[in-house]
Amino acid sequence: MPELPEVETIKRDMQKVILGRKITGVYVHKPVVIREPSPAAFKKSLQGLTIKNILRRGKLLILELSNGSFLTIHLKMTGQLVLSQNLRNSGGSGNSRVTFQLSGGKTLNFNDQRLFGELRLVDSWKKIKFIQGLGPEPFDLTYGGFQDMLSEKKTRIKPLLMDQSFISGIGNIYAAEILFRARIDPDRPAQSLSEKEKQALYKAIKEVLKSAIKHGGSSIDDYVQLSGKRGDYVKFHRVYGRQGQPCFVCNSIIKKNTQGGRGTYFCPKCQK
Ligand SMILES: [Zn+2]
Repeated sequence: MPELPEVETIKRDMQKVILGRKITGVYVHKPVVIREPSPAAFKKSLQGLTIKNILRRGKLLILELSNGSFLTIHLKMTGQLVLSQNLRNSGGSGNSRVTFQLSGGKTLNFNDQRLFGELRLVDSWKKIKFIQGLGPEPFDLTYGGFQDMLSEKKTRIKPLLMDQSFISGIGNIYAAEILFRARIDPDRPAQSLSEKEKQALYKAIKEVLKSAIKHGGSSIDDYVQLSGKRGDYVKFHRVYGRQGQPCFVCNSIIKKNTQGGRGTYFCPKCQK
C-alpha cells in the first residue's frame, strides 16, 4: 500500500503538472470507487472546475478546486494515479476506474485493480471521519511531543508506528526500515524504549521518510509515480523484502516473521 513517501511523491508531481488545469471531462468506469456524492453528482459537479491546490494528509491526497470544494483520493491497496496525453475518445484503459480529462490535453487515470480505493468530492476535507482520526504528520512532530506520545504505550513499537491514529502516513515498509535504522527490535513494547532509543527512533522516522521521498517512493506492488515510472527507494531498503540476505551492517541474515498479520523484516543482531 502506498505510504507517506509514495503519496507525497504523487502530490509533488501533481503540483508540477496539473495545478491550474481545468477538469474538462470525468468518466466513471467503476462507480464503486466513488464514495460520495453519487457517481452522477460527482461527475457533474467536477466538470469545469480548476485545480487550485494539492495537499496531502497522511496517505490521503486532497485536490482543492476552484469552487471551494475538495476532491480527495485514497489509493488504498492498489490505487494508482497516472497522467498521460489525452486518449482520443477518452475512455481510459486497462485498470482505469475513473478518467479525468484536463485542459492542455492531459488525461489523469485513477487505476485500481482491487477496487479498495476511495474518491470523494466534499465541501470540507477536514470533516471526513478518517481524517479526524489521524495522528500527527511525522514531519510536524517535535521530539518533546513524540516522547509524550510514546510514554505509557504498552503496544509493540512496530504496530504502533503503523497505527494511523498514533502517527499518520507510516505503513509496513517504512516501519521496518525506520526500526532497522533506529536499531530497535520491532517486538519491543513502546514504553520500554530508553531515552537514547526514542531519540534514534525520532531521527530515523524523519530521515527514512525524507530519503524515500527523495527517491520517489518504493515500488513493491502496484505503486507508480504520476508519470508511470517506478519509485526507486527499494534499492535503499535495508530490511524490507530482504529476508535470507545478509545485513548491510553486520552481515547476519535478515529475518522475516509475522507480527499482527503483517510480514516483519529485521536484523536479529542489529536490532535489540
Ligand atoms: Zn545487522
